[in-house]
Amino acid sequence: MTRKPLIAGNWKMNNTIAQAVVLAQEVSNLFERDWADAVDVAVCPPYVDLKPVKTVFEFDKTPVSVGAQNVYWEPSGAYTGEISIPMLKDIGCRYCIVGHSERRTLFHETNEDVNDKVRALFADKVQPVHPIVCVGESLAVRDEGTCLEFVDAQVRAAFAGTDEVDAKDAVVAYEPVWAIGTGRTATPEQAQEVCAAIRATLAELFGAECADGMRVLYGGSMNEGNADLLLAQPDIDGGLIGGASLKAGSFVEIVKAAL
Ligand code: PEP
Repeated sequence: MTRKPLIAGNWKMNNTIAQAVVLAQEVSNLFERDWADAVDVAVCPPYVDLKPVKTVFEFDKTPVSVGAQNVYWEPSGAYTGEISIPMLKDIGCRYCIVGHSERRTLFHETNEDVNDKVRALFADKVQPVHPIVCVGESLAVRDEGTCLEFVDAQVRAAFAGTDEVDAKDAVVAYEPVWAIGTGRTATPEQAQEVCAAIRATLAELFGAECADGMRVLYGGSMNEGNADLLLAQPDIDGGLIGGASLKAGSFVEIVKAAL
């Protein structure tokens, strides 16, 4: 099964609306329209930038989708500061990052929270917003030698109570915490080993055919210098890119590496 790669930029808490529009315009200017045949591309800006960024890509007819960095599972109500799935759909989000390690660490998001978000996204079937479920071990877990078990448990927890009909369009991003924003990338072999193990877990949960069609990304200091080798691995179907997605030239070079 050949899976179409996905390159997604996680802008994190960067860029005012004006800055976001400039960055989106730079990406758009560098983007060749026919790349969309071979690779799916998305950027995930802060909530307030979603609509302006989407407008830039729509105006230019540039095939780049937008995604959110987080969501709350209730559709509406007294949840001050939260954003719902209907709100993301209204903007036209195609993806939503769920369970990023910064949310798990800094905002105390648990495996149960991640599962609630994933199930809420799956429940909304019209014009679905696909989760990009982030998993990955800390340096302490890697040094302990229990990385594969740790990531397996995170995947099982994230998808608990879901089935293959829901899961087939979901994306999993393997993001070792020690590689995020540190400049220290996993070697292609390390990343491949865990991405293959994630696919094996997905096969146990949803069957081999479903797992074979699901995209597993690598994220963690991916840049234009290391993307080629990482993306050449058989179980790495794209990248979730933080720092390098804030420079249009670097982001577009990573997109080209996925062609
Ligand atoms: C991320 O935050 O998802 C990420 C991969 O960041 P960076 O590329 O900066 O390591």
